[in-house]
Amino acid sequence: MSVVQRQQWDVVVVGAGGAGLRAAIEAREQGARTAVICKSLFGKAHTVMAEGGIAASMGNVNSGDSWRVHFRDTMRGGKFLNQWRMAELHAREAPDRVWELETWGALFDRTGDGRISQRNFGGHEYPRLAHVGDRTGLELIRTLQQKIVQLQQQDFKETGDYESGLKVFQECTVTRVLKDEDGQVSGTFCYERESGRFFVIEAPSVVLATGGIGKSFKVTSNSWEYTGDGHALALLAGAPLLNMEFVQFHPTGMVWPPSVKGILVTESVRGDGGVLRNSEGKRFMFDYVPDVFKEKYAQSEDEGDRWYEDPDHNRRPPELLPRDEVARAINSEVKAGRGSPHGGVFLDVSTRMPADVIRRRLPSMYHQFKELADVDITAEAMEVGPTCHYVMGGIAVESDTAAARGVPGLYAAGEVAGGMHGSNRLGGNSLSDLLVFGRRAGLHAATYAVSRTARPTVADEQIDTAAAEALRPFSAEGQEEGVTPENPYTLHQELQQTMNDLVGIIRREAEMEQALRRLADLRVRARRAGVEGHRQFNPGWHLALDLRNMLLVSECVARAALERTESRGGHTREDHPAMNREWRRANLLCQLRDPTGGLAATDPVRGQITLTRETTEPIRADLLALFEKEELVKYLAEEELFE
Ligand code: FAD
Repeated sequence: MSVVQRQQWDVVVVGAGGAGLRAAIEAREQGARTAVICKSLFGKAHTVMAEGGIAASMGNVNSGDSWRVHFRDTMRGGKFLNQWRMAELHAREAPDRVWELETWGALFDRTGDGRISQRNFGGHEYPRLAHVGDRTGLELIRTLQQKIVQLQQQDFKETGDYESGLKVFQECTVTRVLKDEDGQVSGTFCYERESGRFFVIEAPSVVLATGGIGKSFKVTSNSWEYTGDGHALALLAGAPLLNMEFVQFHPTGMVWPPSVKGILVTESVRGDGGVLRNSEGKRFMFDYVPDVFKEKYAQSEDEGDRWYEDPDHNRRPPELLPRDEVARAINSEVKAGRGSPHGGVFLDVSTRMPADVIRRRLPSMYHQFKELADVDITAEAMEVGPTCHYVMGGIAVESDTAAARGVPGLYAAGEVAGGMHGSNRLGGNSLSDLLVFGRRAGLHAATYAVSRTARPTVADEQIDTAAAEALRPFSAEGQEEGVTPENPYTLHQELQQTMNDLVGIIRREAEMEQALRRLADLRVRARRAGVEGHRQFNPGWHLALDLRNMLLVSECVARAALERTESRGGHTREDHPAMNREWRRANLLCQLRDPTGGLAATDPVRGQITLTRETTEPIRADLLALFEKEELVKYLAEEELFE
């Protein structure tokens, strides 16, 4: 039997990005003793990379804005597949979450009259993104960290121990959510990345806030942490994932040099006036405005340009269409032979703003291009192309409470949770999502935890099984005579190539079937992933463990993408190019066949995942009334309109 250290807490938050920290603050403020566990250093989560801003209808720059307009934009962006109640809560509560950040010390950029400044972004009708230059995520995390330290100082005054009520376990990875025999959450199994030592946290509530899945794709804007851990942990605990086919390919990632391919070029560049051109110098986005958006976007360059000065009397330029539309347009231009020298298109801000304004408003972009590509964006155009950026699919949660479906005590918030963004997320709506649903997850996880009469127990056998699973890569060699262990790095590269080539921005049936065959093969090989050396900081071992998660999540994406025979938001089928109103009513749920991780879970033919269709909940009448009937006709199924 393994001897592992056990600790008892009320709430465990897995992840220290925006969602995790906001959840932890709330749980602690509700009186729950809260532990935060994160893979990276505290303060280094992916949220730090967020550039453009936080979407919230404060109406500081255009008083026409309101939660209702924000709700409408979010539903349109998601092509009406959003969990509408989440979109409603998000639009209503986002302003309070931003103001709250300010009271906790966040220093946002200001308008001329001293209010929090808000900038334009794709799909948002009004300037809506509260920002700090192009380093908004950094300020958000800094502020939440500061709040945590303040709470710890408060605890110290009362108990003499800074970590009595809120403790951060940094550079630790969770490999399993544990449950008791009644199927209720009982804690997490974790390892310290530096020492390799295992430990268990016993707790009745676990909040998953682990972010996205981008590292399953070759070209991505995502950081190393995005290996779909929370998605996989939920599946393994028995919770379903929702609509995993919807993966967002951001239209503008760097395409050159190869070592930085995929790194994000923020949408603020377009929000502040940047335009997209092809190799012929044409502003091609005017050719790609889909019918559903025709009335809302400028038809000429002049009108688009006037909008920056006079948005009330002009329509916005099509460079600010939702991301899925822009990404597909760039893909088409490149495919038609009108791309830039390195396989992208040109994004030009140099002819649109004075150099000093560019350096002031887009400081990170200026440095990013200067240092990584030797391009001066104040004097020349950038080369950009689509990059895997965000996953709209995620853990199926109850809208108001963030409770994961089917597993009492499990909660999810942030990018790991599904539903809020439908088939496509609008820029800026993630940071607001983290704050709104991070708070809600923390609140409900704490309420659930403190209402339990008995503390959960973790059986020794469970710990032994989790430890054996984690140690398997060290004994890969001895598993089968004459079988050479697989290199986790090779497996990872093959997985990324498979997802990029076969389940990427444009999808085809035969290719996705091929992807599933390759994933099945990789899954079998991944069980032989072997590593050398010790448990002390061993990145090969960490990757071997992450592979389980990436393979699980990739299978969900491929299975759901194959099933949905239409194109909607982040899911584009070349063989089914139109959006089909009948599909609006369908949610696709992925669940693990055998959550114990037994043989059925590794069946090379049937795969690990079962997929079911579920009918979406009808949108509440007063929310539907916010749209014109002519618009609803484009999205809703016949019987929904009738109802
Ligand atoms: P994260 O911030 O990624 O945090 C995840 C946490 O989980 C980390 O602490 C990680 O260490 C931890 N973790 C993961 N797995 C484990 C495990 N197994 N065990 C323990 N810990 C684990 N959105 C906007 O709204 N506005 C923007 O301007 C914007 N700009 C962006 C710019 C870039 C370059 C990128 C890549 C994204 C941007 N986004 C933006 C999206 C947004 O940043 C993310 O969706 C958001 O930060 C996700 O936050 P999160 O709290 O869900 O996860």
